[in-house]
Amino acid sequence: MKWSLEGKWIAGGFGLTLLLMGLISLTSYKNTAELIESADRVQHTYEVLNTLTDFYASMTVAESGRREYIFSGNQQELERHQIAVGNMQSKIRTLQQQMRDNPIEQQRLTMLNSLATQRLALFKESMALYQRDQSAVLAQALITERSVKLRGKIQSVLADIKATEERLLRIWIEQSRSSIHYKILIEFIVTILNFVVFFGVYFLLYSQWRQRQKVETLQRTLVQEKELSDLKSRFFSMVSHEFRTPLSVILVSSQLLGEILQDLVDKSHLKNLYRIQSSAKLMNQLLIDILTLTRAEAGKLEYKPELLDVEAFCLNLVEDIQFFDMTHHSLKFISNSRCVRVKLDEKLLYSILSNLLFNAIKYSPKGGEIYLILRCEVGAIFFQVKDEGIGIPPEDRQEIYEPFYRGQNVDNITGTGLGLAVVKKCLELHQGDITVESKVGAGTTFTVRIPHKIYDK
Ligand code: ADP
Repeated sequence: MKWSLEGKWIAGGFGLTLLLMGLISLTSYKNTAELIESADRVQHTYEVLNTLTDFYASMTVAESGRREYIFSGNQQELERHQIAVGNMQSKIRTLQQQMRDNPIEQQRLTMLNSLATQRLALFKESMALYQRDQSAVLAQALITERSVKLRGKIQSVLADIKATEERLLRIWIEQSRSSIHYKILIEFIVTILNFVVFFGVYFLLYSQWRQRQKVETLQRTLVQEKELSDLKSRFFSMVSHEFRTPLSVILVSSQLLGEILQDLVDKSHLKNLYRIQSSAKLMNQLLIDILTLTRAEAGKLEYKPELLDVEAFCLNLVEDIQFFDMTHHSLKFISNSRCVRVKLDEKLLYSILSNLLFNAIKYSPKGGEIYLILRCEVGAIFFQVKDEGIGIPPEDRQEIYEPFYRGQNVDNITGTGLGLAVVKKCLELHQGDITVESKVGAGTTFTVRIPHKIYDK
């Protein structure tokens, strides 16, 4: 059986709680047993003390019974005396039973027993003397004197026994008290630990549940965003397609019209026709750029690298650009001639370099020099587009790759702010990068670096 993380936590928490509960039960059992034992000992000590008190009381009653009997001859006093003597003997036996486990107390008890026997013998002697001769007062006084002495000794032994029992009683009570304190402390600690374990497991499970919820929400958002971006991409494809057809019609028609009217009307009258053409071109480029960006954001921009003769590609590109360049710049291609075929996506590369070259044309003065420089090195291929145009202010250099961002010094040069964003997206698919060096009023050089593995001479 495979345990999930939550399952492990629950089982762990449950096991720990069980262990703690077992521990508390064991400790509780031990403490309760100790408490019962202490209570039994306390009870026993109280019983011993009670028996001692009863013994002393019986001895006093026996003494007073004897005394009353020899003074009054009352038979009832004799009976009272005999019952008390019987009680004394029974209490001695009880004490022997109660103190059988305590050797020191046993010794004292033996002494008490012997003193009590001597005193009982004196009682007997006094009774016999009375029954023989009621006038022997002096002899009775002597017996009484000896009996009082014995009583003193018995009292002293009883006091010793009592003191020992009271000391024991204090010890048992102290032990019970510390047992109770220990039990309370253990129970308190284990209860706190149980709470900690319980809440710990609860918070872990809760945070995992929250995390899972977050992931689910994120997944839902991602799905929604993907749907939205698919929709956007479909929408832009459709719109661009629908716009580009009439735009091409406008462009081709205006070009035809231009050709027809070229010899019939004055050149200055054809100005508006050229404006229509350049606006149509701009709109067409805008649509292409928006479509490329939307596809790139939706992850649908196609990347199909193929072995490409880069030099031939660059020469063709330069020719294309020159054809469209109405302002007749001097566009030159320079190559270090060390690379011939590199694996690249032709369409994307065309988009990258054409955007940079058209920018170079757009932001350079009429007739200015523009260079496309190709350099191949092991592991990377470099393209540089260099112009002598308006340059890019330092504060704009970080932002120019953002869609719709335009430099502060563009004045009335038309543009959409999408070209470099498209360049960046196309480069990302090649895992390449772009850097710029520029001086305002002096010119700009964009350097594109594309890493490559296949490199044929
Ligand atoms: P657009 O050219 O349509 O404005 P881009 O995204 O191609 O949009 O360029 C963004 C900005 O970068 C431009 O507005 C301009 O300020 C600056 N820029 C790009 N290329 C050049 C260049 N060769 N010379 C001067 N500025 C440039």
